[in-house]
Amino acid sequence: MSQYKVLIVGQGLAGSILAIQLSRRKIPFLLLDKPGYTVSSGVAAGMMNPIVFRYLTLGWRSVNLFNQAIGFYRDFEAESTRNLLHQVDVARILGEGERIQWEKKSQLPGFGNWIDLNFSGKDLMPPVEAPHGFGLLRNLAWLDVEGFLHTVREKLYHDNSLIEGFFSHDKLRCTVSGFEYEQQQFDQLVFCEGHRAIDNPWFKELPFRPVKGELLRLFIPKLRTGFVLSKDVFLLPIGDGMFKLGATFDWNDLSNEPTMPGKRYLLDKLQTFYKGEVKVVDHQAGIRPAMADRRPVAGEHPVIKGMYIFNGLGAKGVMLAPAIGSFLADKLAGISTEDDEISPSRFDHDLRL
Ligand SMILES: Cc1cc2nc3c(=O)[nH]c(=O)nc-3n(C[C@H](O)[C@H](O)[C@H](O)COP(=O)(O)OP(=O)(O)OC[C@H]3O[C@@H](n4cnc5c(N)ncnc54)[C@H](O)[C@@H]3O)c2cc1C
Repeated sequence: MSQYKVLIVGQGLAGSILAIQLSRRKIPFLLLDKPGYTVSSGVAAGMMNPIVFRYLTLGWRSVNLFNQAIGFYRDFEAESTRNLLHQVDVARILGEGERIQWEKKSQLPGFGNWIDLNFSGKDLMPPVEAPHGFGLLRNLAWLDVEGFLHTVREKLYHDNSLIEGFFSHDKLRCTVSGFEYEQQQFDQLVFCEGHRAIDNPWFKELPFRPVKGELLRLFIPKLRTGFVLSKDVFLLPIGDGMFKLGATFDWNDLSNEPTMPGKRYLLDKLQTFYKGEVKVVDHQAGIRPAMADRRPVAGEHPVIKGMYIFNGLGAKGVMLAPAIGSFLADKLAGISTEDDEISPSRFDHDLRL
């Protein structure tokens, strides 16, 4: 008999958070990860925002997901004595006519807590170009994702729950009692493979729509702001004159390589509101695992019992993963049923072909 009940493949945000949720429920698991095989979490800016800027609407289940995420990361900080979660406000640089839309929205129930239209931006040093003013989104947060992943990794090593290595799908045997991988038995198996799920023989028919993203780390010596500045791109202050500038969206090039056009796009967008001196310190790229219907996917394979997927976190993995990881851990413990909105069974037809 194996000492582990669950095998998790992949230690991005999905695998890490599921691992923590299983630990909290005292369910023994082994996590197998090949670092760098695909990268998304490792380059994420870490922003959590329940509002969809483009339409100024609350996203799918977003307030609940946001609150659960804050609670999860706060608890994790307390357990690990690391400071990883930071409260932040986002100053949106408004376009022509946008203020009217923001004013209307701020009157609606549920929005008043988030939107503030009294921010003048006069304290930004040096001034940022905003001829139509700012709309402020208050009380958002960002997570130091790199620090979070590193802390989880240390904990899993310490608990003997992590092995570094590549999971080879053709070495897996489905048995009557579960799964066998390299002489180890598991009752359940969860694939948290990020965008590499497109190669997974049991789930590859799902309608994945991965999106490449690029991000710059900048040193901006003269800009003083405690706010995230946002207009087409976001500029997130991370301390000591350092900023993250992101992000691009590309559905065609799915390499992990940063590109010159990506860098130029980000710097050109920054120039529309900030023209001061900027030094590029680092340039990173990753592939966001996303689904065609823009919902995450978490649940059991409709045919192969005990086999699960946790994927499709898109551009909002930091906010989505804690609640979904909690749901999935309960499901593995047998105390929750499938959630139809995120179940892989919503694509039943694709998986049974
Ligand atoms: C530039 C950029 C900026 C972003 N900014 C934000 C942001 O501000 N806020 C936000 O919420 N989200 C952001 N995201 C999105 C966020 O990164 C994703 O939602 C999330 O990280 C996806 O996590 P994941 O665990 O599903 O996938 P991944 O992070 O890709 O993790 C998958 C893991 O599985 C491993 N793996 C895969 N196959 C195998 C195998 N066969 N064997 C062993 N290991 C395997 C991979 O190596 C990797 O470690 C951003 C993404 C990008 C690219």
